[in-house]
Amino acid sequence: MRIGFGYDSHVFEAGKPLVLGGVPIPGCDGLKAHSDGDVVIHALIDALFGAAALGDIGSHFPDTSERWRGADSAALLAAAVAEVSAAGYSVGNADITVICERPRLRPHVEAMRERLAELMGVETSCVSVKGKTNEKMDAVGEGRGIIAQAAVLLG
Ligand code: MG
Repeated sequence: MRIGFGYDSHVFEAGKPLVLGGVPIPGCDGLKAHSDGDVVIHALIDALFGAAALGDIGSHFPDTSERWRGADSAALLAAAVAEVSAAGYSVGNADITVICERPRLRPHVEAMRERLAELMGVETSCVSVKGKTNEKMDAVGEGRGIIAQAAVLLG
């Protein structure tokens, strides 16, 4: 078994749609990024590559490449799982923490779990998504962006 940990953060960008964990979230600004800004999937991808010691999201999907401009992070996650599988590993489980003052995450947690499980080819029971605020501390607490952390076990 191998463990991996991933971290990502993005600032809000007004007028852009918000996508978290592969799920569109209406009523909140999106996240500034070269891709669709899905901070949850980006942290998860880094955890997957980290567990397999295969580098990081930037080395596989460089943000300097036009190929990944506006990229659907769901497709990047599927590609990352395929690379990890090709290296001989399978996804055991994932545990994700999302930290933000907005949007409220609770109503979207089940949809995120189901979508991420589908993209990784595992049961929903193998994916945990937990939402927290930063108790109004620091930049995230001031509502300037979202942080995601992910731990993954590969078998
Ligand atoms: Mg990112």
